[in-house]
Amino acid sequence: MPDLEDLYREIILDHYRNPRNRGELETPPAVRAEGFNPLCGDEVIIYVQVADGVIEDIKFGGQGCSISQASSSMMSAAVKGRTVEELQQFNHAFRSMMSIEPDPDDPAPTNGNSADVKLGDLEALKGVVKFPVRIKCATLSWHTLTQAVEEAQADS
Ligand code: ZN
Repeated sequence: MPDLEDLYREIILDHYRNPRNRGELETPPAVRAEGFNPLCGDEVIIYVQVADGVIEDIKFGGQGCSISQASSSMMSAAVKGRTVEELQQFNHAFRSMMSIEPDPDDPAPTNGNSADVKLGDLEALKGVVKFPVRIKCATLSWHTLTQAVEEAQADS
């Protein structure tokens, strides 16, 4: 029977090899944001289309390590069709999961009501907290999406 770490590795590799929502969206109406993680050389490009506070569509591109690309794929599957508020809850829950090694750039979340959020496949990235240098690989796509959504909302 595979242990949890093997299972997590399988989920990460599955998203890396068969990425969900990989591609581009037309801008406008979609908004494009780019994120870069110089520590690892990861690049993530997020396209997001937001209407009436709902993430109607999301695509991602870029290149980098398996963690950065799998994280983008899992994130896109988790937030597609959700509201911006739900996205914030996901982001919050994901960051609390990943913030065992605190990052001075990311203040630790202060309120604790993200416990109800089901992270699903994203939980597979939990093992990454053991490798602090890789945490930025996992959080890069979230930073980039947050930036894109802020821009999308500023436009409307
Ligand atoms: Zn990386």
